[in-house]
Amino acid sequence: MQQERLLKVLVIGDLGVGKTSVIKRYVHQVFSQHYQATIGVDFALKVLKWDHKTVIRLQLWDIAGQERYGNMTRVYYREAVGALVVFDMTRLSTFQAVLRWKGDLDSKVALGNGRPVPAVLLANKCDQRGQGLCSKLPKLENFSKDHGFVGWYETSAKDNTNIDGAMTRLVECIMAVE
Ligand code: GDP
Ligand code: MG
Repeated sequence: MQQERLLKVLVIGDLGVGKTSVIKRYVHQVFSQHYQATIGVDFALKVLKWDHKTVIRLQLWDIAGQERYGNMTRVYYREAVGALVVFDMTRLSTFQAVLRWKGDLDSKVALGNGRPVPAVLLANKCDQRGQGLCSKLPKLENFSKDHGFVGWYETSAKDNTNIDGAMTRLVECIMAVE
């Protein structure tokens, strides 16, 4: 028997870190310098043949506009089963916002058993690592463990680095929950 699972996954983080770009890369295999900040919430759907009996419909929720306030409404978080928390490796302020996003997530949604939903940390724009603050970042391995992320990846939506890997890790953790 085939089973189909619909998974709601949130992509959160400060304005301009590359949330929309990561989604477009993952779902449509494209990259552009110019994505309009459409107002509201955007969805993208990726269908995964997970194993011989499971098809996953991965619903990626993109925020546009509201991220400037640094938090989202409960309605947006409702029934999410996982999240990508994205920052821009070239802008320290976006890294400093990561814990605020993680806190917002954990305060507004949880798994049925009360545990936090799996979240993966993305250090995006790693193609620009030469420019800036990488030396000022703490060791992300320790940081991500200490703050309850199930994994972290240096990603580039531009060069298509580690996007699939990060998504796969997140979905594995989501599927391991039940
Ligand atoms: P959002 O506001 O978080 O959705 O960010 P966007 O996806 O709109 O990206 C903001 C800007 O960063 C755009 O000009 C993108 O082209 C650029 N960008 C996104 N990801 C990358 C990346 O991995 N590398 C580089 N060099 N630029 C990126
Ligand atoms: Mg966007």
